[in-house]
Amino acid sequence: MADTLLIVEDDPQIRRVTEIALQTAGFDTEVAGDGAEGLAKAKSGRFSLIVLDIGLPEMDGLTVCRTLRKSDDTPVVFLTAKQDEVDRVLGLELGADDYIGKPFSPRELVARVKTILRRVAPPEPEGNRVRGNLHIDPATHSVTFGGQPVTVTSREMALLDILSKRPEQVFSKSQLIDGVYGVGFHIADRTLDSHIRNLRQKLSAVGCSDGIETLHGVGVRMGACVGAA
Ligand code: CA
Repeated sequence: MADTLLIVEDDPQIRRVTEIALQTAGFDTEVAGDGAEGLAKAKSGRFSLIVLDIGLPEMDGLTVCRTLRKSDDTPVVFLTAKQDEVDRVLGLELGADDYIGKPFSPRELVARVKTILRRVAPPEPEGNRVRGNLHIDPATHSVTFGGQPVTVTSREMALLDILSKRPEQVFSKSQLIDGVYGVGFHIADRTLDSHIRNLRQKLSAVGCSDGIETLHGVGVRMGACVGAA
């Protein structure tokens, strides 16, 4: 089945050009003409990727992305019209997967989209793993601690997957970024930090206060996951 992409762009001409380019490349598309509509559609989780203009009336693309990221990590490619928008994308650790400056060629957009979709394709699932009272099953996207379910995003699952495969190993930030996002992909350390922080909070909320251990200046490894303070 073809990937369905969401295009959020207020300029009808750019929206149409983008739509045609992506459809010609074999994708299904849906469109939204403003940020609120885009966010509502994006939250449905039906999309493999979102092409998101930054300069939107009322709710801008950065706000859409920031809001979406609280519950969802669908890849986002920003469309930027100005250098200061690029700076804001890079500076705000929004978890954007890429950005493309206007004017852009449809071919360039399609190439970027395909690269990201390849990168985020889920790895072959492996069997479930147990660490202390924590059960992780990447195949069914399920995490439980002492039987209590923990709802994680796909990035958080990727992070847990990597850490729990070699629970004694201390992973550097760059190793984790390579593992979660793919080798050669550049994201800010702070973006990774926020995934780790969110995951740790979710684990703590069910009593797993020793889920992830940070060794300052070295990296991160799996904790004992027995629920000790
Ligand atoms: Ca615009």
